[in-house]
Amino acid sequence: MYLKSIEIHGFKSFANKIKFEFHNGITGIVGPNGSGKSNVADAVRWVLGEQKVKQLRGSKMEDVIFAGTENRKPLGFAYVAITLDNSDHKLDVDYEEVTVSRRLFRSGESEYMINGTQVRLKDVNELFYDTGIGKEGYSIIGQGQIDQILSGKPEERRELFDEAAGIVKFKRRKNQALKKLDDENQNLVRVQDILAELE
Ligand code: ATP
Repeated sequence: MYLKSIEIHGFKSFANKIKFEFHNGITGIVGPNGSGKSNVADAVRWVLGEQKVKQLRGSKMEDVIFAGTENRKPLGFAYVAITLDNSDHKLDVDYEEVTVSRRLFRSGESEYMINGTQVRLKDVNELFYDTGIGKEGYSIIGQGQIDQILSGKPEERRELFDEAAGIVKFKRRKNQALKKLDDENQNLVRVQDILAELE
């Protein structure tokens, strides 16, 4: 699996629609200070479902929408789509290519899509569990993050290893099953109480 392209329109400094295409090997994005290099990484974080505006270097979610310049009016929405090659089916879907997109309007209305079908944020999160790509993954290492990892608590570091080992999905399922078991045990206690009252 690899990143084939990123399409951006109206996100942060990208007022015009732009498509970055990536090929085999290493790609570097270079440019003067403030030209928008980090905004490209922010766009990828955002489309993967980032909800914390601080992680996107803003103070409110609307800050990701192009705010206008001296010569250009602000835009009403932000749109980002990433396309991944999935010929190795690391993403658990039948498609050879997967496009995930997110759109946000100034009204606050927003939508996520996977290959053109509208989905919930939960579906985007689940698609990327254990791939290292999701918003909790390690595919984007921001400035200062290495220090944070090295000096972080062992439990926090463990989360990275769990993701790399591909066991996050199973941990989540185990927790859901344990919660259901707990709910059922409580129901059982209630039934026993009622039975005891009736006897
Ligand atoms: P550096 O090399 O200094 O780290 P950079 O190339 O990574 O810089 P970014 O931080 O990606 O640059 O981009 C910053 C630019 O994006 C600033 O000029 C800022 O005004 C612009 N910008 C951020 N959000 C918006 C927005 N919502 N609308 C318009 N421009 C925006």
